[in-house]
Amino acid sequence: MTGTVLTGLLPQSGAAVSLQILTNGRIRQVFADITDSGHVRGYIRPPDLGIPPLSETQRLGRRTLAHAMGDGILSMIRTADADPCVQSSIELLTGEIDEDLEDFFGRSDQVASAVALDVLLDADDRVRAAGGVLVQAQPSADLQRLEATRAAIADGGFAEMLAETSDARELLRRLFATAKEIDATPLEWKCRCSQERVVTSLRVIDVSELAEMVAKGDEVEVTCDFCAARYKVTPREIEEVYTAIIKAQV
Ligand SMILES: [Zn+2]
Repeated sequence: MTGTVLTGLLPQSGAAVSLQILTNGRIRQVFADITDSGHVRGYIRPPDLGIPPLSETQRLGRRTLAHAMGDGILSMIRTADADPCVQSSIELLTGEIDEDLEDFFGRSDQVASAVALDVLLDADDRVRAAGGVLVQAQPSADLQRLEATRAAIADGGFAEMLAETSDARELLRRLFATAKEIDATPLEWKCRCSQERVVTSLRVIDVSELAEMVAKGDEVEVTCDFCAARYKVTPREIEEVYTAIIKAQV
């Protein structure tokens, strides 16, 4: 989610960004999106990975994901206000999301970048701090400076800073003492699911499966992947979706 937020805040990103990673590893899918209002949400599949308990130092340091990711594809969909959305995909380079995002910006956007994303846990395995940094070089920039920044944040460097402070301004000052601050963008976890969206989402189900659901006439319960809200779809709503698809096919 932090990576999606940082991508969404780039001036060239437009109004909304969604990031998806599909892999052949234990983490099969990672999805996160952000709207132009700063509403962020995300989920992973499967939600329960059963990762072994962490030692004290692991909790406060860099956590590696590559072992659970395997090979896969990272896709980014960016939607500008008026333009149609733009999707770009790359194969995963390492399975560490920050390294793959860095690779994505370099290969897909052709912008030299340095990215670090880290999550630190407390003694109860709850998120103590989550943060990230994304630095992009202007076309005429000194790439050695970017390299020095990358060296400072890579391999747990940023996790160490995050363990000391989760204040974004303080982190910025530590990385770039002379950086000019701009206004902060407020961010908020917020899901946009609704009964209407859930019913609309039934349209992607195979039509023969829908026909079966109509024939059964049972209420269907749908759980939102993002916020776990539960929705009950009535037999009548299912039938309406089915009828609309059949009519559109005629
Ligand atoms: Zn939801």
